Amino acid sequence: MLLSPILTSIQDIYENYLPLTEGNPASYIPELAKVNPDLFGIAICTADGQIYEVGDSQHLFTIQSISKAFVYGLALADHGVTAVMKKVGVEPTGEAFNSIVFDEVNNRPYNPMVNAGAIATTALIKGNSAEERFSRILTLFEDFVGHPLTVDESVYQSESETGHRNRAIAYLELNSGMIEQPIDEHLELYFRQCSILVSGRDLAVMSATLANNGINPITKKQVIEPDIIKSILSVMASCGMYNFSGEWIYKVGLPAKSGVGGGIIAVLPGQFGIGTFSPRLDELGNSVRGLKVCEDISSRFNFHLFDTHTLLDSIIHRQYNGSIVSSTKQRRQAEKEILEKEGKQIAVFELQGDLYFSTMEKLFRYLENLDPEIKYLILDGHFINNVNSSALFLLDQTKEELLKNNITLIVSNFDTNIIKTLLSKGWLDVNFSVDLDSALEECENLLLSKYLSKQIDKNKKLSLSEMDLLLEFTPPEIEIIKPLFEEIIYKEKESITVEGEEANQIFFLASGTATVYLKLLNGDKKRRLTTYISGTCFGELALFDRGNRYANIVADNDVICYVLHFEKLKILINNYPEIYLKLLEILGKNLVKKLRRNSAEIKNFSGVNILSRK
Ligand code: GLU
Repeated sequence: MLLSPILTSIQDIYENYLPLTEGNPASYIPELAKVNPDLFGIAICTADGQIYEVGDSQHLFTIQSISKAFVYGLALADHGVTAVMKKVGVEPTGEAFNSIVFDEVNNRPYNPMVNAGAIATTALIKGNSAEERFSRILTLFEDFVGHPLTVDESVYQSESETGHRNRAIAYLELNSGMIEQPIDEHLELYFRQCSILVSGRDLAVMSATLANNGINPITKKQVIEPDIIKSILSVMASCGMYNFSGEWIYKVGLPAKSGVGGGIIAVLPGQFGIGTFSPRLDELGNSVRGLKVCEDISSRFNFHLFDTHTLLDSIIHRQYNGSIVSSTKQRRQAEKEILEKEGKQIAVFELQGDLYFSTMEKLFRYLENLDPEIKYLILDGHFINNVNSSALFLLDQTKEELLKNNITLIVSNFDTNIIKTLLSKGWLDVNFSVDLDSALEECENLLLSKYLSKQIDKNKKLSLSEMDLLLEFTPPEIEIIKPLFEEIIYKEKESITVEGEEANQIFFLASGTATVYLKLLNGDKKRRLTTYISGTCFGELALFDRGNRYANIVADNDVICYVLHFEKLKILINNYPEIYLKLLEILGKNLVKKLRRNSAEIKNFSGVNILSRK
């Protein structure tokens, strides 16, 4: 079994700091002093729910101050940023967590991560009774960890009996009008929220939920709105580590929160959360080993948020035009000629990666330099990951610009949520295609409708002489070959060829359409490969190798085919060798054309023939 290098790294870090026995467990809450000081656990949970853990990562301890970050989130959800800001600021104090300092200019505690601010935050939690208010906090924490939680009643009692300093803070706040009654209820609520039992593993999941836009990566539940997360993480980054916060963000570079129970959480937004537990604290109240672990992990793996020097990936996965790549729809000869000549009016941009300000700016630079001949633009989203709101705004502006310049925009493979947002922005005039092939087909149809005087009537039965491949045959030659063909009618959904069967005919489609399906290797799933329309021909490959059929071709509707059995060709060989040769030559040329086209597409897709930005 391969051992994950992530796991071996945190094991290594664990072993490095296990001998570190500096500091002491918190003792100002008497019950906290009873903890086994040697306990030590580390857990990392990725934004998609993979957990790596070592040591005592499942040992339960009280969450203490770490609760402040989450209750702050609940207060924001209850009242919104503006109202909460009036009651609690976001400035670091530079003082100890339990210091009695207030922002007197604004008549509010400095920030929600110190006791004064946390008590004021807890006072904001809505509910009709003390029980209901606490149960809302507990439920939030349970949603964050993904399972039921309990309170350590003895730690709670212990703090409630000895928490005179916090009482003093609360009453001072009452005195200045920073918080309102019932003060004792707010305080008990605060003591209880601090006494909720969690493990290092739980903390990792809680912080991974913050990293994952508020969606618990294990239960997939949206626990808190994404908008609130940036507020929580901001105060964690500036005030989360007591009066060590400045040095912490300087060295570790991650928003974090620590608690006197010995826990620390740290978040790398979009990627993962860390939870550590070791009860020995330094003078500032941070877990000694926890600090070391986070510093070490951050420097080993470059997690510092300001240490990102990522160069922009290209937003363009592939770029080409409609004369190089066409839809899989089989076209009549006349249509093919138009597309070959005019296909360059269709530009395809397959986008990739994340869409945000800088990648959209790049995309727009490409579009600005579009060939003036281009009249149709496909933006394909198959390889897009995330799209933020500024990208949506810029995309919307881009659409307006395209419309002004008479360029028809078609988007394909866009995520349904993005489509919903774009529709709400008024994108009703834009065609959304499920896949790139349909988008290309749609553009081709629009283009062809401009150039073809009359549309091809799908239902009209064509004569043998109207078959694309037989257009070069003279009327007398047609008369000679006609008796060799058998006219066969296939009902809707009837199979025309079946994969694996011996191939001994060529089919010329006189009316209707037929679709080629490939069976996928896994199970019964099938994939549409292409659709033939009247005037086109299929099954000709086997004439050269007499191999077996490689796909199923099914009549989409009632279909009439002119079928030529290979056996019948003997008549031509014996009596009209020049007609036979002509037929072979046409079939050969047709195959060469297909191959050339395929090579051009492959060349294009391997980047050799990417369109210039000119
Ligand atoms: N319940 C503790 C107190 O208010 C929490 C302190 C902390 O973890 O920073 O004193």
